[in-house]
Amino acid sequence: MQQVNKQDIRKLNLQELEQYFESVGEKRFRAKQVYEWLWSKSLKNFDDMTNLSKATREHLKENFDINHILVDQFQRSSDGTIKNAVKLFDHQIVESVLIPTSKRITACVSSQVGCSLDCNFCATARLKRMRNLNPDEIYDQVVAIQEEARLYFDRPLTNIVFMGMGEPLLNYQNVLAAIERICSPTGLGISPKRITLSTVGIAKMIRKLADDGVKFNLALSLHSAINETRTRVMPINQTNTVEELAEALKYWYSITKRKVTFEYVIWDGINDDERHARALAKFCKHIPSKVNIIQYNPIDEGEYRQASPEKVSLYLRILEDSGIVAKVRKSRGQDIDAACGQLANKIDW
Ligand code: SAH
Repeated sequence: MQQVNKQDIRKLNLQELEQYFESVGEKRFRAKQVYEWLWSKSLKNFDDMTNLSKATREHLKENFDINHILVDQFQRSSDGTIKNAVKLFDHQIVESVLIPTSKRITACVSSQVGCSLDCNFCATARLKRMRNLNPDEIYDQVVAIQEEARLYFDRPLTNIVFMGMGEPLLNYQNVLAAIERICSPTGLGISPKRITLSTVGIAKMIRKLADDGVKFNLALSLHSAINETRTRVMPINQTNTVEELAEALKYWYSITKRKVTFEYVIWDGINDDERHARALAKFCKHIPSKVNIIQYNPIDEGEYRQASPEKVSLYLRILEDSGIVAKVRKSRGQDIDAACGQLANKIDW
């Protein structure tokens, strides 16, 4: 008979696992062995834990599940970008992306199923937020991309960005727990310097990141340094204004001493004039930062269109004159809807 209500073993941290093993009369060090199988080796079933006795494996099978993601759909772009549609244990779907360049292989991972924010230009915003991802579901996306990097590019994964579906700072505890395991030597041993969390801009949580002493990088989706425009494209700006974000980011820098990256799309007729460019330059002066100008990826026939190359040059000139580092980022994976803002579970299931 199928057992119900088995606990997902990866919900336990190492200490909890040790306590569990002691409570059932097993040696404490067994917990460490199991933990390594579960995390650094990403095993999906207890039978493969070959250094455990058969009785211990049976005991674990009776009492625990190992919930695991499944890469259910795989698409490859003409530019090499790979998009995984990942099925979770409750059959919800999220997407994650492998982005190869000559120097790097970057994993772009999701932190929530859907998104509760209403950024008008983003396809994910059209999905309802269903739930937060668990730490293991975030971790597993990285593992899947790490395997694909080896298999298809024969190179290691070098960077991780939280720029997939969802708002990582609205799933704070689980995202931090996932990053902790990704960086841990008993996990993937990836340096936090290679991880970037991107946020829509929630001032309170940016301060909390700084207070919690995180060692990874922070990016903020700015898109306008003028409140009126930013509120129009990102309603979250009503409660987290440009001024509040500036204060929170100054605080972040004062504690972490790490520069912030601003993500910025320039749209035709919305923020492509000199006034907006100068406001961005002024904003950047307050906070040690750099600007990534992202190409707009159209999500429908809506009001948003990429600004002209002349307007992008105008921005670059104004930023450069103010001594601000800005780079234009080419869009990747557009043909498979894998580019920024295009993740929307479009495949039919
Ligand atoms: N919620 C987080 C993580 C999502 S990251 C955040 O807002 O930062 C996705 C990035 O792509 C964000 O910078 C977002 O503003 C940007 N983006 C969303 N839709 C886009 C589109 N259609 N074209 C280009 N960039 C887009």
